[in-house]
Amino acid sequence: MAKLKTLEDYREEIGQCVKCGCCRAHCPAFGAVKHEGRVARGKIALADALLKGEVEMEDRFLLDMSQCLLCGSC
Ligand code: SF4
Ligand code: SF4
Repeated sequence: MAKLKTLEDYREEIGQCVKCGCCRAHCPAFGAVKHEGRVARGKIALADALLKGEVEMEDRFLLDMSQCLLCGSC
């Protein structure tokens, strides 16, 4: 059986975001509300903060992470 991945398994990918913000132009979730937590850059920043223990999985965190259409545009 395949091992479930953890956030730690994505540490390298998380570190590859250069924070250019180009994903903002292509994200329908961000386009609807103009909130950084809804776009890939913001979600990656949240994941990074979670890895570093700077945030917890509280309601706002979970809301931002869940608001994604998985469209792949970013
Ligand atoms: S996720 Fe967004 S901000 Fe990060 S590198 Fe990709 S386009 Fe740039
Ligand atoms: S998959 Fe689509 S909705 Fe989700 S962050 Fe990327 S562009 Fe936005």
